[in-house]
Amino acid sequence: MQRRILTGDRPTGPLHLGHYVGSLKNRVALQDEYDTYILIADIQALTDNFEHPEMLEANIMEVALDYLAVGLDPNKVKFVVQSMVPELTELTIYFMNLVTTATLERNPTLKAEIQQKNFTKGLPVGFYTYPISQAADITIFKAHLVPVGEDQLPMIEQTREIVRRFNRLYDKVLIEPKAMVGEVARLPGTDGGAKMSKTLGNCINLGDPPEMVRKRVMSMFTDPTRIHPTDPGHVEGNPVFTYHDVFNPDKAEVEELKDRYRKGTVGDVEVKERLYKALTEFLAPIRARRVELAASPDDVRDIIREGTRKGRALAQQTMDEVRAAMKLRYALG
Ligand code: ATP
Ligand code: MG
Repeated sequence: MQRRILTGDRPTGPLHLGHYVGSLKNRVALQDEYDTYILIADIQALTDNFEHPEMLEANIMEVALDYLAVGLDPNKVKFVVQSMVPELTELTIYFMNLVTTATLERNPTLKAEIQQKNFTKGLPVGFYTYPISQAADITIFKAHLVPVGEDQLPMIEQTREIVRRFNRLYDKVLIEPKAMVGEVARLPGTDGGAKMSKTLGNCINLGDPPEMVRKRVMSMFTDPTRIHPTDPGHVEGNPVFTYHDVFNPDKAEVEELKDRYRKGTVGDVEVKERLYKALTEFLAPIRARRVELAASPDDVRDIIREGTRKGRALAQQTMDEVRAAMKLRYALG
């Protein structure tokens, strides 16, 4: 059997550079080798956006356009809309018995996100339990590998624990998946924050036009200790240089800029101008393809529909095995 990948994104906005280096690049590289399912996680997006369900439909299209624009081939890869696979919800409920509240409380990513999101009306149970729903996402497709950013590692660990428990308690039906982190485990935000994130407004999106990229690069956070361009500056931990390292293919130029920055012989503006140039060159073909695809939304919808149909068929197969293992096949039908 061909090994399988499951990964996904929340349709909370268009995808950004962090998604590219954290996960998309690996997905494109592995799509020939692995049977790949990509979940557009609208149910998970609702856990902290339940007051705005109207934004999901447009964002499902945005995310699918980004997938196609970076080179995911719909003849190989299945794009699956989470809420259109109701079996996922059933499996989530069964998994809930295999996880304690203490385990959820210890989850470092969940903890950080709860703090960051600052739920003023109390913590929704749906958000609190999303690691369990994510375990159902991964296991229902019997994935071996999950290409994700570093922030998702505790979720994969939680999934592995659930699988071990399930297989021990009931029957050996589920596969224990492995995480695969991208070349950049966690791309910082343009604000210097630890993570570029759709909902933090510190992103450069894959489909941003050049003038927007320029604006975002020129307003980027750099070395806070440096006041004048003639002050020696810090390269390490400076997001402008992190982006240069990742996106500027001219390594000699990057080394020269770092050297001059440390000595205080180059200003932030020049370093940013060069980054802008590298980024627009990187993004130009992605953006061109995205604009072209956006002109045929019906084709994109067909691709999503077909991927979801295949994903649901696989999920139904797994759920037959899950119900059998759990002795939920009563002679009552
Ligand atoms: P939201 O703010 O709605 O949570 P997000 O930007 O965190 O959005 P997700 O849809 O939650 O994006 O994440 C999708 C995938 O992209 C995950 O595997 C995640 O680890 C990865 N990812 C997201 N942001 C980054 C980043 N800055 N660096 C590396 N990987 C990232
Ligand atoms: Mg996220």
